[in-house]
Amino acid sequence: MERTLVLLKPDCLQRRLMGRVIARFEDKGLDIAAMKLMRVTPELARRHYAEHVRKAWYPELEAFITGGPVVAMIVAGPEAIRVVRAMAGATNGLEADPGTIRGDFSSSQQMNLVHASDGPESAQREIDIFFPARVGGAR
Ligand code: ADP
Ligand code: MG
Repeated sequence: MERTLVLLKPDCLQRRLMGRVIARFEDKGLDIAAMKLMRVTPELARRHYAEHVRKAWYPELEAFITGGPVVAMIVAGPEAIRVVRAMAGATNGLEADPGTIRGDFSSSQQMNLVHASDGPESAQREIDIFFPARVGGAR
């Protein structure tokens, strides 16, 4: 069993697609191990997207990800990190394969509905950011 961090980004909620996206993970047999509706603050955005903070397009990304509520989830299952990335599809919705979440619902490089951790280290780092360990808490 592996755990990965998934965000349903503000465009996903605004377009009322969260049920359909979550249903795909359930249909695949993945577990939703934790889930919360929240706002991403600029500080949280900078931590989460640390690798992108210096990029020219980071300010736009921060405005987007902080611009409305998100749903943060821990998704668990066999090879969940790779499987969920594959289900999300390529970053740009115009390049993402049909059958993927981005390929089916997005035509944008930025507003691409979901975030999914890209490897074991980022999954652990991002889970710790969005679901900080609570004493005695189940994670
Ligand atoms: P992924 O989410 O597929 O791992 P990246 O890590 O490259 O993609 O980028 C993080 C997020 O930043 C993307 O999902 C997308 O929302 C946004 N993004 C990526 N490239 C651009 C860009 N050139 N301009 C604006 N936003 C971008
Ligand atoms: Mg990435």
